[in-house]
Amino acid sequence: MTAPKKILLLPGDGIGPEVSRQVRRVMDWMAKRRSVSFEVKEGLVGGASIDAHGTPLTDETMADAMAADAVLFGAVGGPKWDEVARHLRPEAGLLRLRKDMDLFANLRPAFVYDSMADASSLKPDLVRGLDILIVRELTSGVYFGQPRGIETLPTGVRRAIDTQLYTEIEVNRVVRVAFDLATKRRNKVHSVEKANVMETGVFWREIATKIGKEYPSVELQHMYADNCAMQLVRNPKQFDVIVTDNLFGDILSDCAAMLTGSLGMLPSASLGAPDASGRRKALYEPVHGSAPDIAGQNVANPLAMLLSFTMMLRWSFDLHEDADLIEGAIKSVLASGMRTADIASPGTAKVSTTTMGEMLLRELDKAIGII
Ligand code: NAD
Repeated sequence: MTAPKKILLLPGDGIGPEVSRQVRRVMDWMAKRRSVSFEVKEGLVGGASIDAHGTPLTDETMADAMAADAVLFGAVGGPKWDEVARHLRPEAGLLRLRKDMDLFANLRPAFVYDSMADASSLKPDLVRGLDILIVRELTSGVYFGQPRGIETLPTGVRRAIDTQLYTEIEVNRVVRVAFDLATKRRNKVHSVEKANVMETGVFWREIATKIGKEYPSVELQHMYADNCAMQLVRNPKQFDVIVTDNLFGDILSDCAAMLTGSLGMLPSASLGAPDASGRRKALYEPVHGSAPDIAGQNVANPLAMLLSFTMMLRWSFDLHEDADLIEGAIKSVLASGMRTADIASPGTAKVSTTTMGEMLLRELDKAIGII
């Protein structure tokens, strides 16, 4: 038995608890069949925490997040809390987690299972086998730069200001994450900016070039953000790891996500800087929200949450073999034609959230030769 890994599980609102339950089942399976045990603490976040404590994230839960080896987050929000003050909204809980844990690197994979290639808005041949990882800078850039605001000049002219600002440390650390990840993938990094028209782009390119020299095995290509958007829909399989700033990353990761065709299948991770022992603070969450329209109906797709968990196994715990097993089982379930409603198509069987979880456990047992 290896030492238990401390996970803080924050299921949140809407479908968050339903999809989290399927992850708990897989964790139980791992403890039983793989001798990997987790010490899981559950906490409240978002609307659930507002209802219980009047705040979307308590200081105690924040402290639990800081103490955990990794945080697994479901989703927050819903119409019930739409009217609460901005700083008390469910999303404020997630924003505080990201800020206090200093999670500056947002990892958004976009991959397409062969059996799901038809779900993409692009031609199946263009996306079959797609496997891209977008690394987006998450805590700086134009979303945070000062000055910002809307003002009226003495002349009566109104104007709005946002500031794109990056320090060398901020660019350095996120680009380094991208190179490190590329060495564990296909050794290719596209560094994306607008060096043709933006000073921060020139700066970003200069730093990426310098860091690239430290990774001779990784091929570095610079690309303008507008071209990258075009290439993502023209020939997405040319990419391995893409690293870019907060604004471009926001747009390009959504664009790449849609190449896969389904929100219910997309995981993400947000990583902080490594400490002295090399351990990074990390939060893993599906890209989708709390889906209030289907919450409580046992129809939500749990795969984005499960894939967020496999990212955790890889990047926080180095459990690549276990992550491979689970991802392989997901692939087999999908290939067998089992689908939750969001990804069902003619010729596939529509199953519930819990049945999808059951099918997955069966495939896992099969994969290790139990059945
Ligand atoms: P959403 O992602 O919750 O839902 C969009 C659509 O996709 C809905 O039709 C929903 O039923 C469907 N969907 C999403 N996840 C699914 C899944 N796993 N399986 C099957 N279908 C799925 O986005 P929204 O409707 O814009 O927002 C709903 C609430 O979620 C809002 O309160 C919003 O603020 C919040 N939200 C939270 C997060 C987060 O917690 N990180 C992210 C996005 C939105």
